[in-house]
Amino acid sequence: MPELPEVETAVRWLGPRLCGRTLLGARVAWARTLGGQRPAALNRAVAGRAVRGVSRRAKWIRIDLDDPAHPAPAVLVHLRMSGRLVIAPAGVPPGPHVRVSLLLAGGGRLDFVDARKFGRLRQVGDADAALPDLGPEPLAPGFGGPQLGAALGGRRARLKPLLLDQRVVAGLGNIYTDEALFRARLDPRTPAAGLGPSALDALCAAIRAVLTEAIAAQGSSIDASYRTPAGEPGRFQERLAVYGRGGEPCPLCQTAIRRVLLAQRATHFCPRCQRRARARRR
Ligand SMILES: [Zn+2]
Repeated sequence: MPELPEVETAVRWLGPRLCGRTLLGARVAWARTLGGQRPAALNRAVAGRAVRGVSRRAKWIRIDLDDPAHPAPAVLVHLRMSGRLVIAPAGVPPGPHVRVSLLLAGGGRLDFVDARKFGRLRQVGDADAALPDLGPEPLAPGFGGPQLGAALGGRRARLKPLLLDQRVVAGLGNIYTDEALFRARLDPRTPAAGLGPSALDALCAAIRAVLTEAIAAQGSSIDASYRTPAGEPGRFQERLAVYGRGGEPCPLCQTAIRRVLLAQRATHFCPRCQRRARARRR
């Protein structure tokens, strides 16, 4: 499932290849991908519009369009479980899992490929208003212990589910949350309210380091479902310390990595290296 590094990898690849290009329209093979928007409405809204930019907010891809009739016209894409955006050259027919295609002037298409059909793509007139309530970007300047502490709000809930909540921190999913907690030496079951300023700083530094390294490696291909838009697997899966490694030795202390279910999500941690802070009274 794509998280911040995988989405960022896609955005960095697509940006220079799409910016300045004009869309001719949309072809929709699976209408539910539009999440309620009608195929004819999508086609009308994008036809003749030039792409002004491709960016990321949390796990959303935002393709800004040139349309003076709207405040922030864009196509918003969420890859969810298995979505991918790929640029198909002219003359290559769409594959079986292409749900929506945006047709490019000069030939070729931007194909939204999504085997499992959970992904979403739609056009909006005001992208800023259309995006849901999202927490701070962990790679933005200013993200540090105080900001994370404020986002966690001193809650007594466990750290792992809180970090997965996109309203608390934007872009984290199961893989990078487990890896960041390992690097910060924090037990995922620790109540958020148990973290003092130094632990919050360490957690922010760990989140930033893991995400930065994962982007440099173009994400993690745990299975065959994730590929970059260029069709390559990511390389960060080889460097995962705990995620997916239940029962294997901890890279630091050789204790067996534990795998537990926390809020219905598989969670991996070293029971020796990652300490469990108690909730503090504030
Ligand atoms: Zn360990």
